[in-house]
Amino acid sequence: MPKPREDIWVCPTCGANYPPAPEPPARCPLCEDERQWVPPTGQVWKTMGELAGEGVRSEVREIEPGLLGIGVTPSVGVGHRGVVVLTPEGNLLWDPPPFVDQAADDAVAGAGGLAAVSSSHPHMYGAAVEWSHAFGAELLLVEDDAGWLMRPDPAVRTWAGSLEALPGVTLVQCGGHFPGSAVLHRSLDGGLLLVGDTMFITPGADRVSFIWSAPNRLPLPEAETRRVVEAVAPYAFERMYGGWWGPVIRGDAKGILERSAARYIEILRGDI
Ligand SMILES: [Zn+2]
Ligand SMILES: [Zn+2]
Repeated sequence: MPKPREDIWVCPTCGANYPPAPEPPARCPLCEDERQWVPPTGQVWKTMGELAGEGVRSEVREIEPGLLGIGVTPSVGVGHRGVVVLTPEGNLLWDPPPFVDQAADDAVAGAGGLAAVSSSHPHMYGAAVEWSHAFGAELLLVEDDAGWLMRPDPAVRTWAGSLEALPGVTLVQCGGHFPGSAVLHRSLDGGLLLVGDTMFITPGADRVSFIWSAPNRLPLPEAETRRVVEAVAPYAFERMYGGWWGPVIRGDAKGILERSAARYIEILRGDI
């Protein structure tokens, strides 16, 4: 089917995709959740075709060799960009953005297509089902959060704990922001993490933070913060990419994570 599709409803506030239908859904449960927000003027809906008519386009850029970024401009939903992790054994799309057009589809086809699609958490499921259908790829979602996929699909395969999705590419469930909040670890070249907002890279790229809700400025409790850090303790990584084009941590990411968590917990306990 040509893209962008006219019958796929998107919540422009959170970016969730809904099943093809002539009319929009009544509500967006993701936006009504405490971690998101509904515009004060009320829920808005757009089809992908309407977004394209307003000038929304995909933006494809290399992030580093082996990582192809796919963003959307102007931004839709939480404004994140996706990452295609390129491997000789097949490619995995992480954190798909909410909108997909033919240019993005062609770029991914040119890079060898997709063996799998996955995501850090429900705010970044985006157009996961569109991508899965386009390339016959499995949609790997953490079991605890898969119910937040607003466009359910038989391509979903749930997982828990950790999953080696491709050789050298492991998905790790960390919890925190969502019970299934996850990161992607790639072992190549010293190791890297793609973290979505499971860890939140700060503007100086020298610290990470932890959130229950970013838009509502709600912090993450200590036990959850410790769980996030412990989940990635077995993995070596130097670089860390969040859910957006920047900021990026280019070295000592594991040390920065551990020091940042220690300081975050001190502050939760009142040490300022
Ligand atoms: Zn929404
Ligand atoms: Zn989120």
